[in-house]
Amino acid sequence: MLEEPILSVKNLSKQFGDGCRRCSDPSTRDLIKNYCPSCGMVFACRDISLDLYPGEILGVVGESGSGKSSLMKCLYFDSDVTSGELYLQDEEFYGQNLWTLSAQKKRYIRNHKYGMVYQNPVHGLKMDFTSIGNIAEKLIAAGNRNVDNMKMVGEKLLDTVHIPLFRMKEEPRNFSGGMQQRVQIAKALSNNPPVLFLDEVTTGLDLSVQADVLDLIKRIQREFGISMIVVSHDLAVIRMLADRTIVMLNGEVIENGLTDQILEDPIHPYTQTLVYSLL
Ligand code: ADP
Ligand code: MG
Repeated sequence: MLEEPILSVKNLSKQFGDGCRRCSDPSTRDLIKNYCPSCGMVFACRDISLDLYPGEILGVVGESGSGKSSLMKCLYFDSDVTSGELYLQDEEFYGQNLWTLSAQKKRYIRNHKYGMVYQNPVHGLKMDFTSIGNIAEKLIAAGNRNVDNMKMVGEKLLDTVHIPLFRMKEEPRNFSGGMQQRVQIAKALSNNPPVLFLDEVTTGLDLSVQADVLDLIKRIQREFGISMIVVSHDLAVIRMLADRTIVMLNGEVIENGLTDQILEDPIHPYTQTLVYSLL
């Protein structure tokens, strides 16, 4: 690709635990999946590199426990990395490893450059705020102060995600799972982020509701041209959304390429199992 990536990850590692002599050295390491049986250390992400290009949807697929959410939490600064570099193509932060920035600057990036949609809406929404109040909260964090303007933006976003405006003053806790995810998406879009992260956003929804939310994500990508990283354990979701895909297993990237290519000609045995189970 000729373009520069909008987001670039180099050699991300995320570990839980201090490690021991055996697992600190790759040559003596004897892991069960991502876990060191000698000391209990978990290698959630191991040496992950990826590029996200402008306007694309990058899929991350892998079984439960493969490290997908850990990756997303590191990207969104919800958790610290063990090592690695993260670059955003942005005038203000060009050439700076975002993981070395101050908490204040990380917060600034979350508020101005990033959107996040969590699997569990409880993590992304204040369930006892109104829906439009949730959007206003993010708008205020991004520096907005004009109430009329925020109301206008909030209504437009709720309309975009098909929440009827007569329900905008309702609290998301009264909503169905699919509606909660749509409010979360509206909130994540409110600061006009160049980068949007979505972690298992349709997992647990009924199939028809899931299809609606997937359509919405696709439409948003077309209309707003936002770059997205979409995480799912479900290859069917990834097939529907992602231009390119990386496959994770036990904290490692085991395969990556164009989604079509991976679906047609999976190379790693684990990817083959995933693909054949779709048929
Ligand atoms: P996924 O999202 O692919 O299901 P996760 O990133 O949630 O995977 O988890 C990756 C690995 O990290 C798993 O083995 C999980 O048990 C472990 N893990 C996640 N969070 C913690 C934590 N806070 N403490 C210890 N281990 C964790
Ligand atoms: Mg997860």
